[in-house]
Formats: sequence, structure tokens, C-alpha cells
Amino acid sequence: MMEILSDRLNRLAPSATLAMSQKSSELKAQGVDVINMSVGEPDFNTPDHIKEAAKKAIDDNWSRYSPVPGYPELKNAIVAKLKNENGLDYKASQILCSNGAKQSVCNAIMALVNAGDEVIIPAPYWVSYPQMVLLAEGTPVYVEAKIEANFKITPEQLEAAITPKTRALILCSPSNPTGSVYSKKELEALKNVLLKHERVIVIADEIYEHINYVGKHASMAEFDDIKDRVVIINGVSKAYAMTGWRIGFIAAPDWIVKGCNKLQGQYTSGPCSVSQKAAEVAFAGDQTCVETMRKAFERRKNLIVKLAKEIPGLEVNEPEGAFYLFPKCSSYFGKADGDRKINNSTDFAMYLLEVGHVATVGGDAFGSPECFRLSYATSDENIIEAFKRIKETLARLK
Ligand code: PMP
Ligand code: GLU
Repeated sequence: MMEILSDRLNRLAPSATLAMSQKSSELKAQGVDVINMSVGEPDFNTPDHIKEAAKKAIDDNWSRYSPVPGYPELKNAIVAKLKNENGLDYKASQILCSNGAKQSVCNAIMALVNAGDEVIIPAPYWVSYPQMVLLAEGTPVYVEAKIEANFKITPEQLEAAITPKTRALILCSPSNPTGSVYSKKELEALKNVLLKHERVIVIADEIYEHINYVGKHASMAEFDDIKDRVVIINGVSKAYAMTGWRIGFIAAPDWIVKGCNKLQGQYTSGPCSVSQKAAEVAFAGDQTCVETMRKAFERRKNLIVKLAKEIPGLEVNEPEGAFYLFPKCSSYFGKADGDRKINNSTDFAMYLLEVGHVATVGGDAFGSPECFRLSYATSDENIIEAFKRIKETLARLK
């Protein structure tokens, strides 16, 4: 038997975040006491009122195929959320629900990008964006946002990256992996560049909307002169601690929603019926849980920034949202613990895992090889213990 996978698949890199999390679980299964700060998912349980809605949905027999873009009740709850929380007007026909925001991003890319089209991705980026673009046979074009610029790109950098082949910009705010948040003013400056380039669509990943420490979330879709070129990505995974339920959505112009609907109709159909009923209650129900979790993330952010700044050789930015810290660790490159040498951020993360028993993710996978990512969606005790270990482990590097 010749084991030959498609060229398409051979071009694809596996998800580094999921791979590191898997490694950490394997070590745990062997009895090693690993603190997992690799994968980004809230450590909270899904709030009870949402779980109750799912139990009721099962008893009420919400067990059949839903319409491909989701049940009308869920789409209406999303329309109301966009109006009430974001001041945005969308029709239910402009919403399409999928198996997590991950599928929503992938749908949008697959629906818009032709072979050879360029997609601008500010780096550091979430690991899956370039891979999805490659799957669509597009070309990722990276714009480097440096730690000195708080990991945000400037309008000048955006302008310089746009060519006649540019099809889309993927902008994630609050950002995974850096925690940076674009203010409305910063978005407006980027928007003014995009206005000059009619072919460019903005894929605005707002999955961390509610995990924001600097004030009101701003969306590119708030600008009327570009709204008809914006695809909002959002969902329930992060705000409602529902990563396993797999519900994300896009809010977009009708023609893009129709395109994604066609794709999804052939590929996965509508997302899980029971999860949709739970997500409907997440959006329409009591929102106290969102603020409770946000506050916990903010407290942990303050703790982790303080602890990280105490470690010699790490350069730390102050995250404004999401639940990641993305310190620069390149001062350790070239150092060694005995004959174990640290050459890059992947070596660095592996060293922290295997010697310090703290799972993180090297920055290479995020397009920023000088840094590494820690998810602080874990308890204060874990954060404190993890930094004790990191400090001791890094002190061995000479
Ligand atoms: N976008 C970003 C930036 C993310 O970090 C994640 C988390 N995996 C997603 C999208 C996908 O979210 P979901 O779990 O809803 O698929
Ligand atoms: N978004 C999370 C992370 O970046 C989940 C893992 C993934 O989907 O890649 O860690």
C-alpha cells in the first residue's frame, strides 16, 4: 500500500497549540505533574443556565438536522447581540453559524480566496490563519507587528503590504497570541487605507471581544463606509467557556454568507442542534457570567505580568485583552543547560516543558520566533507555581 496524502495536506502544518497541549496531556498521563499553559481555553465550566438549556433541548428532541446556517432563533439572538452590544444592524440572513469560530474563519477564507490571492496577516498571528490560507491555495503576506509597537500594525505598514492581488486582511482584536486590542481610532486609520483598495475584505476575528481590559470593544464593522466589506467572526467558545460545544458565527454581507452557506452545506451542514440551543441562551440570557469570568482573567493578567517581569531576560508587554502573554525570550537563545542548547523558541518551550514541567507554545508557530506564548486561563495557584518553575528552570541556562 502506498501511503500518499494529497499535496494540499502535505503543505499543511499541524496546529502547534493543539500539539503542545497533547504533549502536555501525554506527560500528565505518565504521572508527570505538568502545568498546562499551552492551549487557550477558559478553565471555567459552562454556566449552569446554558447547560440547562442544552438538557432541555435534548428532552425536547432538538435532535434533527438544523438549517445549514443555524436555527432562526439562534440567528435572531445573534442579531440582537450585535445590535445591543455592538450597535450594529444585521439581518438574520447575514448570520451563518458553524462548528466553532475556527470553521467560521475557514469558511470565509475558502469562500473568498482564489489560488494566488494574497491575504495579509499581521504577525504575531493565531496559528491557524496562514494554514487556512494555504489550504485555499492563497499566499499569506505577513506584516510584522513588533513588541515595541505593542504588537499592532500601523496604517503605513498595511498600505505597503497591499498589492493588486490582495484579497483580504485578517485582523484579530483582542489578539491571540499577544493580547493587543485595536482602539476605534486605530481601526479607523487602518480602515482609511482599506477604503482605497476596493477588492480587500476584512476578516475581523472578534472571538475575544468580551475578554477586554481597556474598555469598550471596537469593531471594523462600526464604520459604515467599509461595513459591506467586513466579515465579523465571533462565537461562544471564549466568552461563555464553551470551547467544546463548537458554535461560532460570521456576520457578513449577504453574498459572502450565501457563499459560506453553499460551502458548509456540502461540507458539514448546520452545527450541532443541542449546542445551538445552548448558544441561543448564552447570547440571549443573563450576561453576569461573562463579566465574572472577565474579571478573573483580568486579575490573572495582572498576576502573570508581575511574575513574568520578575524573570531576568524576558521582555513583557502588557496585554489589553484575551488570556495570553507573549513575552520575548530571545535573550536565552544560544544558552545551554549542560549539553542541552536553546537555539530557538521551539527549543525554549520544549525545555520549559521537559525540564520545568510547564507547557507553553514557542513563538515560531505564531510567526514570532523571538517570543513564546503562555495562556493564563488557569488558576492563580497554577500561575504562581508555573512561574516558580520557569524561574528555576531558566536560571540553569548559562
Ligand atoms: N480565532 C482565534 C483567534 C482563536 O484563538 C480561536 C480559538 N481556538 C478561534 C478563532 C476558534 O474558536 P473556536 O473554539 O470557536 O473554534
Ligand atoms: N485558540 C486556542 C489556542 O490558540 C485553541 C487551540 C486552537 O484551536 O488552535 O490555543
